[in-house]
Amino acid sequence: MKTSARAVVIGGGVVGASVLYHLARIGWADVLLLEKSELTSGSTWHAAGGMHTFNGEANISLLQKYTIDLYREIEAASGQSCGLHPNGGLMLAASPGELDSLKLICSRARYLGMETEMISLEQARNFNPLIDTSHFIGALWRADGGHCDPSGTTHAYVKAARALGASVERFTRVLSLGQRRDGTWDVVTDKGTVHAEHVVNCAGLWAREVGHMVGIELPVLAMEHHYLLTEDVPELAGREKEIVNTTDYAGEIYLRQERGGVLIGTYEPHGIVWSPVKTPDDFSMQLLPEDFERLAPYFEVGFRHFPALGRVGIRKAVNGPFTFAPDGNPLVGPVRGVRNFWVACAVMAGFSQGGGIGLVLSRWMAQGDPGQDIISMDVARFGAFATPKYTSLKVPENYSRRFRLAYPNEELPAARPVRRSPIYDKLRAAGAVMGANFGLENALWFAPEGVAPTETPTYRRSEAFPVVRAECQAVRRTVGLYETTNYGKYEVAGRGARAWLDRVFASRIPKPGRFALAPMLNPAGRIMGDLSIACLAQDRFLIVGSGFAEDFHLRWFWASEPPADVSVRSAASTLNGVSIAGPRSRELVQHLVRDDLSASAFRLFQVTETAVGFAPAILTRAGFTGELGYEIWTTPDYFSSLYDDLWDAGRELGLVHFGGRALSSLRLEKAYGSFNKDFRPDYTPGETGLDRFVDFSKPDFTGRAAALAERAAGPKRRFVVMEVADADAEVVGYESIMKDGAAVGYVTSGAYGHCVGRSLAAGYVPATLAREGARFEIDILGEMRAATVRLEPLYDPHGLRLRS
Ligand SMILES: Cc1cc2nc3c(=O)[nH]c(=O)nc-3n(C[C@H](O)[C@H](O)[C@H](O)COP(=O)(O)OP(=O)(O)OC[C@H]3O[C@@H](n4cnc5c(N)ncnc54)[C@H](O)[C@@H]3O)c2cc1C
Repeated sequence: MKTSARAVVIGGGVVGASVLYHLARIGWADVLLLEKSELTSGSTWHAAGGMHTFNGEANISLLQKYTIDLYREIEAASGQSCGLHPNGGLMLAASPGELDSLKLICSRARYLGMETEMISLEQARNFNPLIDTSHFIGALWRADGGHCDPSGTTHAYVKAARALGASVERFTRVLSLGQRRDGTWDVVTDKGTVHAEHVVNCAGLWAREVGHMVGIELPVLAMEHHYLLTEDVPELAGREKEIVNTTDYAGEIYLRQERGGVLIGTYEPHGIVWSPVKTPDDFSMQLLPEDFERLAPYFEVGFRHFPALGRVGIRKAVNGPFTFAPDGNPLVGPVRGVRNFWVACAVMAGFSQGGGIGLVLSRWMAQGDPGQDIISMDVARFGAFATPKYTSLKVPENYSRRFRLAYPNEELPAARPVRRSPIYDKLRAAGAVMGANFGLENALWFAPEGVAPTETPTYRRSEAFPVVRAECQAVRRTVGLYETTNYGKYEVAGRGARAWLDRVFASRIPKPGRFALAPMLNPAGRIMGDLSIACLAQDRFLIVGSGFAEDFHLRWFWASEPPADVSVRSAASTLNGVSIAGPRSRELVQHLVRDDLSASAFRLFQVTETAVGFAPAILTRAGFTGELGYEIWTTPDYFSSLYDDLWDAGRELGLVHFGGRALSSLRLEKAYGSFNKDFRPDYTPGETGLDRFVDFSKPDFTGRAAALAERAAGPKRRFVVMEVADADAEVVGYESIMKDGAAVGYVTSGAYGHCVGRSLAAGYVPATLAREGARFEIDILGEMRAATVRLEPLYDPHGLRLRS
């Protein structure tokens, strides 16, 4: 066995094999895969091999397409067949909500260049004659997808990697990992030690245990999963083509042809966690005992929806374990605080996603950047909140919903409420309907008396629509309170803080007492964050950004190597905040503050540390609604008193609560983009419009050369807000923006603008088309709706209210 390697990949399942291949393909030939048993011996060997391009995130869909297309390449490079059956896919809807969801998939597919269309049930039966169409109301067909041979595919990756110089050691178990002072690793195995610069955890069912070797707890858990193989089905005899792989959402069933019979699987409710605490070391090429009694009712649904299957015998049953993260997407990327340690695990759809994961991870390792936004599969989307208990509740919830379509207004109940701010109970008493962001409960909207604090999951306007309208109008008319505790907060302090921030952020770093909007770029000049920096003193700063991205940003700060005289600390659990917004907000806050808050004394983007009522606080004149407004931050012990003080002072001024839904509407009326929706590492300062906050005169900051080059050449596409012809639904995200029948861009977020009386969509279109009044069409749930670009914010275009 080699005693050194540039990178050691732990695990020879389909994911480790793909990572090995991609590292070798990108030029790291000196890579070694260690497998404790035979290749594929974890989850991989008994998988059903299904592959598809469906994912709620456009970039992950594209990576899935890449994975499927890659199989021909590795077959050619290795001479090993992947056993491809490129049958395509059928998705069946049984309810109007499911049908809406299929139409959304169709709208998204156009811009992604994937051949997808809504078809009649009759056409669906041509693709799969086993369907009893009386159970369904609509169908979607897509050309991509089918199934492959799990073992052949894994071996094809490995052979192709070997041909590029990579090495593989089977029956070699990694026992421990020791890090040297220079950040390299001693990978201790039962066959000796390998010295490696990088280690990648692709240990699948054992990813949790390999995480423990470096002191981290990855949010990953295995579930048991059953599928059945039937005897030959007479209805399939003599057909020229195999049936198209079929997903039945209502029945929570998937099926595909397997020789003359069918492979049928189900994701049942109340699934069984496998090895909740420790995965057995000696589990290899094994299956689990079948549990027909428990699963019979769920398979029977399948036999009703596909009656021919109920008439044939079962040839074989498979029950095997595979792993999930709490939200069902993989965990990929570098782990904050552990140098040169990478993960590619919790991959529940290895044959759809394995190739894409290998691609982005190899770029990340070799080039320092995954090359595109992959936040929704980045390991950093989970923070400390994802404890083993959290994972043990969320993973079964996700498993039971694997085939439920996720509605955009749906909040999932498991492991909640866990992270609660000190005013959680008060907000609930005020009617708050809560969502969870990075584990933290936050108010989405407030049900007034007589309105139930619940919402029907839907793609269309819900019961909350008129309530959110009232919240928006009250903010613009009087004053509103929104809890901002769910924002990401960081304290940066020390003698070197200013110089370090100057290098990390593309913006000007504000002087003491000032606040600035601060884009942060990667070396390729792409947006890593649009944060704000408040300078509390020459050497002390409060940075605020998106709560969802807390670990993502902390990892970026850590990778940006703060020097010894700079401390960077998350204030996630040590600062709570509220935003007070609306024309009467000054009157309200002035009641509680001795400082003069008049327009000339405390101007927009000023910050001060002062008492607000009882609470020692940081007070900023800023906000996200486009109204005169303030953000107030204090510590958890004072937060409840701050809230009470604000409420006592505000009642007679007409103070109202408002939630995240109203904020989404108010911000789009002002054409403000939001990180992780509109602004992501896919886009540049010029494309997003954040270039107006970039200080191009600074001699040095991360991404400067790329940002300057873009400024010289001009952006290729632009972020715009469009008003959309009104109907009963707003855009959700990733719908294609059409011009003359061609998809020219896509939507990033949307909301109804209650104070401008328009349905609004934000997204990217080619820069040459981004003109005032430019007309496009957006397919919203199957209906082409006119969309018109508005280059100026629809509300208060000159910012007079903000500055008032
Ligand atoms: C019944 C069933 C049906 C499925 N159907 C599909 C499907 O249709 N389509 C699809 O895409 N996916 C399907 N899956 C999921 C699929 O199997 C997984 O996504 C995939 O196998 C994950 O691969 P992996 O490489 O991450 O993990 P694994 O296959 O578990 O591989 C991990 C490897 O790491 C090795 N290892 C662990 N610890 C060490 C150590 N300390 N030292 C050395 N080696 C170590 C293990 O021996 C193992 O070989 C199915 C799964 C099941 C159970």
